[in-house]
Amino acid sequence: MTVGLFTPDGKCNPAYLKLDLYCKGLKIDASCDLDEDARQIIRNRAGLGSGLEVVIGADMYTNVPVVEWWVGNSPYWLVKAAPEEGQSPAGTVPYQIWREREPFDYSAYDSMETAKRGPWVGTLDRANAELVDTVTIPEEPKWYKQRTSSGKLMQRIGCLQGTYLGVYWGPRCQNWGPNGENEYCKFCTEGQNLGSQEEAEKSIQDVLETAIAARKESKITFVHVNTGFLDSNDYLGLFEPLFEKLKSQTNLLLGLQAPPDANFENYRRFKQLGVNNVSLCFEVIDADLFVEIGPGKARRAGLQRYLDAIDFCANEVGFDTVNGEIIAGLEPLESSMRAIDWIVDHGAIPTVCVFRPVVGAAYGKRKPPRVEDMLPVFQHFYRRCMEKGLPIGIAPNVKVSLIMLPEECRGLMPNPNAWPIKRAALWFAAKAFKAVFNTRVRV
Ligand code: SF4
Repeated sequence: MTVGLFTPDGKCNPAYLKLDLYCKGLKIDASCDLDEDARQIIRNRAGLGSGLEVVIGADMYTNVPVVEWWVGNSPYWLVKAAPEEGQSPAGTVPYQIWREREPFDYSAYDSMETAKRGPWVGTLDRANAELVDTVTIPEEPKWYKQRTSSGKLMQRIGCLQGTYLGVYWGPRCQNWGPNGENEYCKFCTEGQNLGSQEEAEKSIQDVLETAIAARKESKITFVHVNTGFLDSNDYLGLFEPLFEKLKSQTNLLLGLQAPPDANFENYRRFKQLGVNNVSLCFEVIDADLFVEIGPGKARRAGLQRYLDAIDFCANEVGFDTVNGEIIAGLEPLESSMRAIDWIVDHGAIPTVCVFRPVVGAAYGKRKPPRVEDMLPVFQHFYRRCMEKGLPIGIAPNVKVSLIMLPEECRGLMPNPNAWPIKRAALWFAAKAFKAVFNTRVRV
């Protein structure tokens, strides 16, 4: 079966739409009322969460680029449906995604003004466009506007990325100075966001209160905490009190995303603290590009240290899951597939982002990747996870908007019905894990 935006019966393929929206972005029709209906756009997590949160189909969360210069070339439009056009599950008026009928022109990027920024608001010419699918815009949770007991706005402590809570913890990544000037990763804007988009100073109590509020209202199950480089590379020292408090008070699932620790033995302590998932982001496996894209990462850790840390966490410590994170579109496709192979062959699960040239990043004026190039990478990703029998899609209610989840990539396969027994086993494992989680969670 050829994989594209529509299946042979004319229905939208949500997985393909999610992937294509990462590559092309979304324009906003004048009918939309996003101030009223949507979550505020919060640029954090290295700037990759720079888009609009949208739910495609039943529960495919995605964070769609809307402000970058290249979104001006997108054929996709967000339109607010009229009330008679249906109700979304939440009882609100649904939104729709439409696509212009004109064939997509990649060469148009060459003549575009890269300094321009959106959102790209206009009026869709429906006569020359086709309806792709009805989507939901998740409402902003009420806790975003609540304050912690220290008076801080909770949305500046952490934010939802899909259905989990993402929190940055610690000082600004030291690749951003004062002694690391020009060492930041060229796709990243974290150094610009901390302090402007999110609180630079937050206490353990601030994070705990935000996590509890997010659990009560948004039913989060997972708190993912990330940080940038410390000169000391002592991440256990940075995170230990926070994880201790979060686990003992909530028993939510906890994720750590940090550069490789100075002492790998510390990962055993992270496990004792109740950390369920460790994620290490090396972005590219091409050795020269690793240095070029992340000079600070190269000087402070180096590619091999990232790979060694993934190997150690997956095979010596044995967290519930370990992720190696890469960005497809920053290196040749064969390299991205080689990185996926390396991660899978070492017992970890790849996290594959689609390169997003975001406003303010050193690579912000680059072109986004082509969906035709991304498709085989994500097909390879799913195939390798299934062949290896990795535990994908097990954690309850963890829908991630910034990436294609491995299980979502099934929709990108020419034969999505392959591996029926393995998929059934994963389904049972997810049910069992959810039951155990529900008995143990404290909020
Ligand atoms: S390590 Fe790189 S990607 Fe991560 S916060 Fe620092 S500069 Fe950004």
